[in-house]
Amino acid sequence: MRLILLGPPGSGKGTQSNLLQDKFGIPKISTGDILRASVKDGTELGKKAKRFMDKGELVPDEVVICLIKERIVEPDCEAGYILDGFPRTIVQAEKLEETLAEMGQDIDSVIDLVVDRKELLIRLSGRRTCKNCGAMFHQTSHLPKVAGVCDACGGPLYQRPDDNEETIVKRLEVYSKETAPLREFYRKRGKLKTIQGRGGMDVIFAQLCKMVS
Ligand code: AMP
Repeated sequence: MRLILLGPPGSGKGTQSNLLQDKFGIPKISTGDILRASVKDGTELGKKAKRFMDKGELVPDEVVICLIKERIVEPDCEAGYILDGFPRTIVQAEKLEETLAEMGQDIDSVIDLVVDRKELLIRLSGRRTCKNCGAMFHQTSHLPKVAGVCDACGGPLYQRPDDNEETIVKRLEVYSKETAPLREFYRKRGKLKTIQGRGGMDVIFAQLCKMVS
């Protein structure tokens, strides 16, 4: 099963793809996570990417396309994967399509998580993320059991540098301009499925599972 989770920052792609990964035993591939790991490790890629990420802008297409091409040929991707945060531009989607065609593969479904802007702003500005495992919490709606500590792995929670108000607004703008057109791209290919992303994560996950199985 090869899935793409579409939806703006804060729509729950990360949370839902973690749940899908556990249920179906296929890896979640998040370009954001891969890039953040490179920033943390101080690699050349990380240094280059950080300049864009801190401003809420997209990292150049050729960089993320290269990352994905290398990742999807890994042995753990044989039975499929969940793409979280890729593709984010039409160029990325076209390149992915081309690469998969060369491999004799295709994407099965593209799930669009729809959440209104006001809710996204609340979610993102209060979000706290685990530095170790990436699990997400929220200052008011999903507090960890111990303040500042991840329930899942005990790692420290932090506010992502791009989860500040100015950068959040920029990221949402970039989404509307660069990524939202992908809905039409995948609708034309008969792959787009839409889920209202408001409500509990379990309810959304149940709908998601029905759609993909
Ligand atoms: P995310 O964790 O998906 O919200 O991504 C965080 C940041 O990483 C984005 O704001 C971009 O700067 C960068 N990024 C992640 N995925 C991509 C992508 N597919 N194309 C370009 N930039 C990306």
